[in-house]
Amino acid sequence: MKSTHLLVGLAWMASIPTLSHANTEFAACLAQLRPSAIKTRVSPAAYDQYTQNLTPDLSLLDKLNYQPEFRTPIWDYLAGLVDEERVQEGQIMLRQHASTLKQVEQRYGVDAASVVAVWGVESNFGQSLGKVPLLQALGTLSCYGRRQAFFRGEFYSALRIVQAGDVSVEQFRGSWAGAFGHTQFMPTTFERLAVDFDGDGKRDLMNSEADALASTANFLRKAGWQTGKPWGIEVRLPAGFNPSGEKRTQKRSLQTWVNRGLVRVDGTALVGAGAHAADKAGLLLPAGINGPAFLVFKNFDAFYSYNAAESYGLAIAHLADRLRGGKAFARAWPTDDIGLSRAERRELQTLLIAKGYALGAADGMLGDKSRQAIKAEEARLGWPVTGRGGQKILQALRSQR
Ligand code: CA
Repeated sequence: MKSTHLLVGLAWMASIPTLSHANTEFAACLAQLRPSAIKTRVSPAAYDQYTQNLTPDLSLLDKLNYQPEFRTPIWDYLAGLVDEERVQEGQIMLRQHASTLKQVEQRYGVDAASVVAVWGVESNFGQSLGKVPLLQALGTLSCYGRRQAFFRGEFYSALRIVQAGDVSVEQFRGSWAGAFGHTQFMPTTFERLAVDFDGDGKRDLMNSEADALASTANFLRKAGWQTGKPWGIEVRLPAGFNPSGEKRTQKRSLQTWVNRGLVRVDGTALVGAGAHAADKAGLLLPAGINGPAFLVFKNFDAFYSYNAAESYGLAIAHLADRLRGGKAFARAWPTDDIGLSRAERRELQTLLIAKGYALGAADGMLGDKSRQAIKAEEARLGWPVTGRGGQKILQALRSQR
């Protein structure tokens, strides 16, 4: 609320022409969108009420256009998302919400660990819901930048959601791109798939864990979830295996993979433990032929559809396994410098701060400032300058403490 008031205040000052110009331009855009919003069942009164004080947040365009120079390796991505901390917190959540999760499983056929794993990766079990005011964000992205057509659909949906009273405008906050709540649903996903599971008459992904867990399960079920089936199997490829043409979406029967010489990574047969010869699976090699290899089934695709990235699907799948007591992947990632858990990232940042780098708080997120500091240290050590935070730089700084 504070930042909105500030913007409205500044708009009155003639000395800031760019902002006031942007506001005029934005108001014209919102007026132009009004008829199409109304066609999608936003009432004229609601449209006027919820857009009259909206100002654009042009800083979001930087996020929309951000192309990271640094592409996160899969082992860093997984080390941060599936660390001991998240496994332990997830196990606490499994216990705390055991009775809800049991009812959710009975209704939607999705097991507790899978639902809680999505929750953990999406919002850190509700601890990171996002703070960006959604109507402002989606309104801005509907009028500026690329993908305006997509964001308009989400903007109108967001307006229908506040119009229906599911979420108040004040509470309607989330990610810069419009995902919100414990499940980080986009507004149109909310409209299609959110459910009222605690029975208070409202679908509430901001405050109701029961609604959020059930909505996640409903999403996975609609995405083709197969009850009681595994998401995938870590496998060992036979010597000389040629992976060309194989991918997650190139599904073949498990029997075909047996015939091609694949076994589970521990050497046992593929068929068994809930996996049948006729089940269809695709080969997933997240780090190429020299890293961990997986055969993935339909349930992996359901995770994938939550965020359309294989690394993301693997993080959820792996966290779900770890929550069930499973171990880390058997095969190592093809690197001599594996990734850092969030605790290790905080430690690295603390060591950098002690050396005089101005990082602000050690929040466990290795953003631009942390990367710059890592680059400076790499240069000082005479190492290749990458800006990447891995075990090697952590150990080097630890030993110099
Ligand atoms: Ca509810």
